[in-house]
Amino acid sequence: MINKYIQQSYKILEGEELSRELIDKLSELQGADVMDLMSLANKVKTKFAMPMHVCTIMNVKSGLCNEDCKFCAQSLHNNADVERYSLSSKKEIQEQAKEAFKYDIKSFALVTSGTGYKKANSEFNKIIESIDDIHEKVEGSRVCASIGFLSDETAKALADHNIANYNINLQTSVDQYGKLISSTHTIEDRIDTIKLLKKYGTKVCSGGIIGIGESMKDRIDMAYTLKELDVDVIPLNVLVPIPGTPMENNEEVDVYEIAKVFALYRLINPTKVLKFGAGRETIMKDFQALLMLSGANGFLTGGYLTTRGRDSKEDERFEKQLQLFS
Ligand code: SF4
Repeated sequence: MINKYIQQSYKILEGEELSRELIDKLSELQGADVMDLMSLANKVKTKFAMPMHVCTIMNVKSGLCNEDCKFCAQSLHNNADVERYSLSSKKEIQEQAKEAFKYDIKSFALVTSGTGYKKANSEFNKIIESIDDIHEKVEGSRVCASIGFLSDETAKALADHNIANYNINLQTSVDQYGKLISSTHTIEDRIDTIKLLKKYGTKVCSGGIIGIGESMKDRIDMAYTLKELDVDVIPLNVLVPIPGTPMENNEEVDVYEIAKVFALYRLINPTKVLKFGAGRETIMKDFQALLMLSGANGFLTGGYLTTRGRDSKEDERFEKQLQLFS
């Protein structure tokens, strides 16, 4: 028999919002009930959040970051063995973008390590040039960016250059950010940048990480903060523990817990793009397809910032097969 809290949740298919109380009850489900929850999340996705969104990223500047994010290989506070390089050239970026758009992807994102750009300095202007260059050379291309904290000036400049989405992850709940993520900046710095992007009409991509020592309450709190901020795309990553970071020995979260998180995010944010980011192939392995059927309607393909992903061709086939469940 179907669990009573899942039964009550079917009203979401009629457009009704679920209460936080009901979401909390769903988060306690165990065993076979989790499959029913995933099935509902998949129905919600099919009704409110299709088609699929697949994107890819390029790390255009790597390592040497002054911030101390505990999960991150690029922080100077950690001892991870990571490639370090300054901003890639316009030609290198253009070549990689052209290659990426040969596949069925929605967007290509330029990602830099570091705190961000509060001033339109020469490095920021080079990034803008690269964005313009891809728009010009690859017809119909959608270019995204993930380059840290912004000011009014730099947020406006990105909007003026037609950035498709801007990624800045909250990573975890407002309450736990200082403890679980960083002491060199605050989650409010991230929220301020999101508000500036919204002010200039840029679509915001913001999510977080599962497996950093957070509780289910933290995960749900983050989903509601993202809802309040009205972000457009929510990437959920599963921690890939990197040697040399304080999270290198973090325990893996059980697959069914992760499935619940994806399903709950879909129920809390029914119409948004919910993307599976890092950890899909490397950590979830056999279960990646199952998780994609728990409410996610997008994924990141072709590799992550400091860890490898799966071949884009293989992912293209994966995407087509997933659509048969919609
Ligand atoms: S997540 Fe970004 S800001 Fe934090 S240490 Fe890594 S590169 Fe720096």
